[in-house]
Amino acid sequence: MKDLIDDFIELFRSNLLNPPEAGTYFRPRPYRNAAVRLRNCSIQDFKTRRKMVEEDACLNPFMFRADMIPGCDLLSDSGTTTMTMDQWAAMLLGDEAYGSNQGYFELRDQIGDTFGPEWEGGKHKNLFIFHQGRAGENAFFSILSRNLQKSESGGKALCDDLNPGLRERLEARIRSLSARTGGSREPYYIIPSNSHFDTTEGNIENNWLIPLNLPCKEHKENDQRYPFRGNMDLDELRNLLDCEQHRVPLVYLTITNNTGGGQPVSMENIRNIHRIAGERNIPFFLDACRFAENAWFIKNNEDGYQNKEIREIVHRMFDQADGFHISLKKDGLANIGGAVVLSSHSLLTRKFPDFPGQLTDYQIMTEGHPTYGGLAGRDLKAIVEGLRTVVRPEYLSARIGQVGRFGRKLAGDGIPIIRPVGGHAVYIDVDKFFDGTAEDGDFKGISLTALMLIAGHRLCELGLYAFGKYDGEKEIPPDPRMNYVRAAVPRLAYEDQDLFSAAEAISLLYSNRDKIPPVNVDYGRELNLRHFKSKYSFKI
Ligand SMILES: *Cc1c(COP(=O)(O)O)cnc(C)c1O
Repeated sequence: MKDLIDDFIELFRSNLLNPPEAGTYFRPRPYRNAAVRLRNCSIQDFKTRRKMVEEDACLNPFMFRADMIPGCDLLSDSGTTTMTMDQWAAMLLGDEAYGSNQGYFELRDQIGDTFGPEWEGGKHKNLFIFHQGRAGENAFFSILSRNLQKSESGGKALCDDLNPGLRERLEARIRSLSARTGGSREPYYIIPSNSHFDTTEGNIENNWLIPLNLPCKEHKENDQRYPFRGNMDLDELRNLLDCEQHRVPLVYLTITNNTGGGQPVSMENIRNIHRIAGERNIPFFLDACRFAENAWFIKNNEDGYQNKEIREIVHRMFDQADGFHISLKKDGLANIGGAVVLSSHSLLTRKFPDFPGQLTDYQIMTEGHPTYGGLAGRDLKAIVEGLRTVVRPEYLSARIGQVGRFGRKLAGDGIPIIRPVGGHAVYIDVDKFFDGTAEDGDFKGISLTALMLIAGHRLCELGLYAFGKYDGEKEIPPDPRMNYVRAAVPRLAYEDQDLFSAAEAISLLYSNRDKIPPVNVDYGRELNLRHFKSKYSFKI
């Protein structure tokens, strides 16, 4: 029999199903604060901050003291996670033995548990730990390149059947890489991906391989109707492999697609890539930094997965792959760490049986004994616990829900952002933000991040400055053009109130966008990776 109390329960439940929008929603966070860091500074200290932004940091957010940020530090979601008490507790039990510490064995087991049994290794050597993702990338691609160069058939012209658009992009890549040797040598092997992350791309190029992005057509459409804008364009992949299979040692896929706004990749796309690559005996690898967030999007937005557990979806995603690399500073929920992992049935190790041994040698030369890979034993413990936590559905719903609310708040205020909002960040479209204002200066994204710092929040320019180049006379904008300011949300660190205060500052700047001054670049315009190092001043 239903009674009066049941009526109340139903009332509570209906509120959960139809939460009123942001701020007053009924659903509490699935965690509570167990330790907090009081600020060293006040949001009111605008004058002090202006001085620090202009004089000490020279408008460069990377150079601004983090402890003087009173608001949200949205520079990156990498290594910025607030760890759980279980992680801190596990760290105290860190085993700091030089070889074969306890954390290593726990991590091996946890990799099998999180990603699926074929990743567990056992006798088969499959887990290669590094201090962060890019160290693993460099190890992986330098060894791959060394193995490939032995068999390079080289110097052949590109096949006539290559789609014109694809051909053009590929030729541009080859030209820009050859320019490094004054045109005397052409790179041969191609690593296609939905979109390579910037460090991945850098490591591929540094090892004389050609990174090639094949984002799906919807990728460029800023449209809510496409929930999987991170997908790879399968027609382009097929065309590339039909024409240039001998040049493609490996197909890569970034989940979620960070460069494209943190957009997810569908299970269907993952399966199809696996099939297309598998038919041709080409290994398929994942850049798995945000694997759990990607699985959450599959569960919520792809037909047939609503009733599956996140862990099961992760297993299915990884069933398709021959290997992956991961920055454990992202969905490892840890502050440091990275890994390269080879599946027990990896096509790559079948092709190159020495590969695992070569990775081990690399680790010993650069990171230390392979059982700690540049990390303290306590870090390994934190990572094990992080990999256990990150697939918990209530954690993921809170995480991705929060980023979504932050995005909707901005969109509601008319701020042009990439939609749908991805898993870890909100991307502001700088071209649209400043549309209609005076065309005086290229780097309004830099002006925006500098003013946001003075307001008390830190964002990151990922646009004409970060991705463009200066040839000594003129600017060469990125192709395709990308001009964003990113607000990356650290995991478990902020409450909505904090993010909404950042959104309010962005809205104030948007309302006054015609008054935002351009900047002078005072130092570093011509440097490689210039956005990390440059100095600017307001043109006022
Ligand atoms: C962060 C990241 C990397 C590099 O990892 P680090 O730990 O920062 O070196 C590679 N790929 C993607 C998609 C990333 O987001």
